[in-house]
Amino acid sequence: MKTVFIGQNEINDETLARAGEILRRGGLVVFPTETVYGLGADALDADAAKKIYAAKGRPSDNPLIVHIADPADADKYAIVGEEYRRLAKAFMPGPLTVILPKRDCIPSAVTGGLDSVGIRCPENKIARRMIAAAGVPVAAPSANISGKPSPTSAEHVRFDMDGKVDMILDGGECTVGLESTIVKVEEGKLTLLRPGAITLDMLRALFDNVEVSAAVTEQLGENVRPLSPGMKYRHYAPTAPLYLLSGSDEKRLAYCNAADSDTLLLIFEEEAALFPAHKVISIGSRDDESTQAKRLFAALREADNTGCKKILAPLPKKSGLSLALYNRMIRAAAHNIIAL
Ligand code: AMP
Ligand code: MG
Repeated sequence: MKTVFIGQNEINDETLARAGEILRRGGLVVFPTETVYGLGADALDADAAKKIYAAKGRPSDNPLIVHIADPADADKYAIVGEEYRRLAKAFMPGPLTVILPKRDCIPSAVTGGLDSVGIRCPENKIARRMIAAAGVPVAAPSANISGKPSPTSAEHVRFDMDGKVDMILDGGECTVGLESTIVKVEEGKLTLLRPGAITLDMLRALFDNVEVSAAVTEQLGENVRPLSPGMKYRHYAPTAPLYLLSGSDEKRLAYCNAADSDTLLLIFEEEAALFPAHKVISIGSRDDESTQAKRLFAALREADNTGCKKILAPLPKKSGLSLALYNRMIRAAAHNIIAL
């Protein structure tokens, strides 16, 4: 298939109307969001949703998130209650997905066979204009080949999806860089299924009772069925094995220094000059979690391009936005943590 590429300065009402028409006809459009790029199809069309799974090579039990242009539209596709309304008022449009009981109009091909559906209203204006132009809700997972790091630029998307989708909309670099926070609402209780830029602290400021699913920080046992199916897969992974170093900076820097020269080091900006013999990629300043979040997936892709044999990186903290970094990095590293 020939993929039409719409550059940043070609995004306008006319090209977004074309994107909307492709979606309505059952085609695939990759679009920018503030988190990562999404691979979109009409969420009311089971056959269109199946094309997403084929393009990504995604297991069919891993559900898609349904994107809407207006938080109030959730009611058409899911059973919403007081909790959804409070979350929407505080955080939407924005990087938050809310899991709710689904209505019949959402085919089970979209939800991986589950009775629930993830609803999200992105903040990115191109995304919302495109969904509004389509006139249908847009089912979309991240626009990467399944298992690879999520795309945070149109260049990443082109690398993974050229020839597999009808259109790619270039919206520049994603401002958040990590996928949305996912929270499940059930019988008045909130459970954090995936951490993101809407942090646990922000949710707890609004609700008394927010649980954290074990899959956020732990490795699941062989037979455990996670609440969020995506959490069981190796994910976000570069080709070279990634190892996370836990311990003091001093020990980490010494360990990195002793590594073979074909080991690539993911390091903080401040450490860039310390490793003249190694290939290094900076993920941002030590205390700048938002830059680290924004750069992580690009850094993992860049690491692959160097042809390195192994990657070492610091293990993030489990607080604030770093909890989201921690969650993505332990998956990218297949839970390989080296305690120093
Ligand atoms: P992606 O957009 O590629 O990050 O994938 C969406 C992720 O959202 C999936 O991997 C699931 O873990 C999660 N998700 C979507 N819908 C549901 C649902 N109904 N219940 C639980 N998790 C969901
Ligand atoms: Mg994904």
